[in-house]
Amino acid sequence: MRIMCFSPHPDDSELFCGGTLAKYKAQGHDVGVAVMTRGDVGSPTLSREEIAAVREKEARAASAIIGAEFFWLGYDDEFVYDTPEVRRCVIDVLREFKPDVVLCPDKDKDYHPDHTRMGQIIWDTHVMAAVPLIPTAHPALNHIHEIWYHDTSGGIGFEPEVYVDITDVWDTKVKMVECHKSQNDWLQHLYGYPVTYLLDVQFRFRGHQCGCRYAEAFRKARMAPQSVSRNGLLPTAV
Ligand SMILES: [Zn+2]
Repeated sequence: MRIMCFSPHPDDSELFCGGTLAKYKAQGHDVGVAVMTRGDVGSPTLSREEIAAVREKEARAASAIIGAEFFWLGYDDEFVYDTPEVRRCVIDVLREFKPDVVLCPDKDKDYHPDHTRMGQIIWDTHVMAAVPLIPTAHPALNHIHEIWYHDTSGGIGFEPEVYVDITDVWDTKVKMVECHKSQNDWLQHLYGYPVTYLLDVQFRFRGHQCGCRYAEAFRKARMAPQSVSRNGLLPTAV
């Protein structure tokens, strides 16, 4: 199976899906990470160009830990908008990776504007990626991928439908998140805690909810019909 996470910011894949992606990869599935923006406002001290370069390096390093195929789209942080050009770009990445399953922020439940719009764009393009009369650099897909929305920051407003037990890959997820060193400074500046603080609180709590030590949480985007491999970790039954 081919599974990818489409992230608005350079650290979202690792924060919300790092364990799940690591687990799929360890089971021999193909994993991808696409990052919509270059994270170029995420620093209290560096210039936009400087922090964007740092964050690309951090995101590539995090993906490399699990050998994920990496896509860097390079849009401006905090300005994710649904435009014809953005749609074509997203569609082309989907066509290049050919996912069976896409993980992304929840278009209805997330509260960060870049996240809700990213989720909406993934929703809006999931059929278009299979439409040949919408041309991009890569040929149209011959299947329509499944979409799973991942948790929100702090779990605010998100009622999980499915949990993935990530206890056995917890150390890998922590290493992936720790690649985003620049965000320790940024979150300390904004909220007074480092990026790794989120891990201890949120994913232990999600684990508590489903009876394991650490878990990541998901909610399925409803659609029909669906054509997808059924041997994944998420219950991809129609
Ligand atoms: Zn984000």
